[in-house]
Amino acid sequence: MRHAAMPRRPDTEPATLADLARENINVWAWCESCCHHGVIETALLIARLGPASPVPDLARHLRCSACGSKDLHARPDWPSLGVVARH
Ligand SMILES: [Zn+2]
Repeated sequence: MRHAAMPRRPDTEPATLADLARENINVWAWCESCCHHGVIETALLIARLGPASPVPDLARHLRCSACGSKDLHARPDWPSLGVVARH
């Protein structure tokens, strides 16, 4: 049996553009068709799509500047997974 309405847990929700802006992180996008990839400024995406947009959803609004494909992936452009302490 499946649970139709799972409660949403805050710690499992995808980051939004507002989260990235707060952390000063841009968005990294990848084209499935031609492997073109690049970083898009979070501020530009907020201006277009609004600060509440979840990062994985951005890909649906993007188009590859190299081949025109809309088959893109987007994720936060984390500076590094090896950051030990920034405080
Ligand atoms: Zn492409």
